[in-house]
Amino acid sequence: MSFGSGRFTTDSAAEGLVAYLRTSPSPFHAVASSLSMLVEAGFTPLDERDAWPSEPGRYVTTRGGSLVAWSTERVLTRPFDGSGGGADDGDAGGERGAVAFRVVGAHTDSPNLRIKPRPDHERVGWQLLGVEPYGGLLLNSWLDRDLGLSGRVAVREADGSVGERLFAVDEPLLRVSQLAIHLDRSTNDALTLNKQLHMEPSWALSQAPLFVEWLAEQVRVEPVDVLSWDAMTHDVQPAARTGLHREFVAGARMDNLATSYAATQALIDAVERPAPEGEVPLVPLIALFDHEEIGSMSERGAFSNLLPTIFERIISTLGGGRDDVHRAMAHTVIASGDMAHATHPNYADRHEPAHHIAMNGGPVLKINTNLRYATDSVGAAHFAAACREAGVPMQEFVVRSDLPCGSTVGPMTAALTGATTVDFGAPTLSMHSARELVGAADQAMYGAALAAFLAPGRD
Ligand code: ZN
Repeated sequence: MSFGSGRFTTDSAAEGLVAYLRTSPSPFHAVASSLSMLVEAGFTPLDERDAWPSEPGRYVTTRGGSLVAWSTERVLTRPFDGSGGGADDGDAGGERGAVAFRVVGAHTDSPNLRIKPRPDHERVGWQLLGVEPYGGLLLNSWLDRDLGLSGRVAVREADGSVGERLFAVDEPLLRVSQLAIHLDRSTNDALTLNKQLHMEPSWALSQAPLFVEWLAEQVRVEPVDVLSWDAMTHDVQPAARTGLHREFVAGARMDNLATSYAATQALIDAVERPAPEGEVPLVPLIALFDHEEIGSMSERGAFSNLLPTIFERIISTLGGGRDDVHRAMAHTVIASGDMAHATHPNYADRHEPAHHIAMNGGPVLKINTNLRYATDSVGAAHFAAACREAGVPMQEFVVRSDLPCGSTVGPMTAALTGATTVDFGAPTLSMHSARELVGAADQAMYGAALAAFLAPGRD
């Protein structure tokens, strides 16, 4: 099956997702994966420490495990100087705000087990590593899996400065072994896992190096030069097409790398298509945030100044001032993407009966009247229009009224920017498990819908 006038096919989207997941075991690696796709598509990396070029173009910048990419190619050179180079719909430059943004947001982090600062210890002859659960993981899903290690290491460089190295070891180094049923007959009725006591992975019986020594070897420095780390575990079993007709993709970190991948693909697709005559200059932009699973409150999470700062800098490079930023926000639309719960066949009663979400049934609009999701009717209309333009069906999710609703970065992004915001996702089972399930056709529909949202009217 294909969508978006044939540009997004089920096979290429599903296989692209499998490959993206493989190269993205940590948020830092997800950023690197998207960055390399974007650079290949002609995006120029910008450093936040530098002055940014005033020429319109395709740009990308990163802040740790977060990435923002955009294209100002469709914007005329000096849209804010009153020379008529602004909106091409007859407005003189700046009369109704000369540019606006179309934004797709997502997150790069996923629940996992992260290595503590002093992880090494031994118990009854086993060498164990101390870990701290990150985010709301389904602890049981991490048992009896072959775990590798990845992340970022802060090292002392030869000149005394602090440098960063990424590392990823896709080998079965670690395992959190489950207790045999003979030693706890109640397990199938009431499994209890203590995060401190029961989740420590073992990695050797004897003579294990100190973790810092092992890590130093991975990034080719002396142990004394390893200053700190963001190191985490991942299941080394690769993602795969599954199901009788291979209609699913099973794998780790679908929440939310399926969205991060679709967003990256959609931006690349959007910038390749010609703009229609007379289009108001819309700047397509994607923002992939770290730290969503732990509340987004950090220097690079969705609650940070990352997105507002970049809006301001883009407007500034185009010659606009602060007022132009606020005017741009007034006609910007943000789509905040995070995976959605598909209706589970074994637990159908946990879902709102009039709003079942079908796997491979298309992108999901997320609605909550108490605004755990940011969607309102105007935002919803923009997303529905994108799905219609891409030729994909759209589903609507609401949680049962007697269950609490999860949340996303949508409401905080709406509050920080003042832009119309809509929350959406793609159908998923087993969310926050070490191995989640999505639909193969959904992935293609997702990419096509996001491309139409980022650059409406170009099909
Ligand atoms: Zn998520």
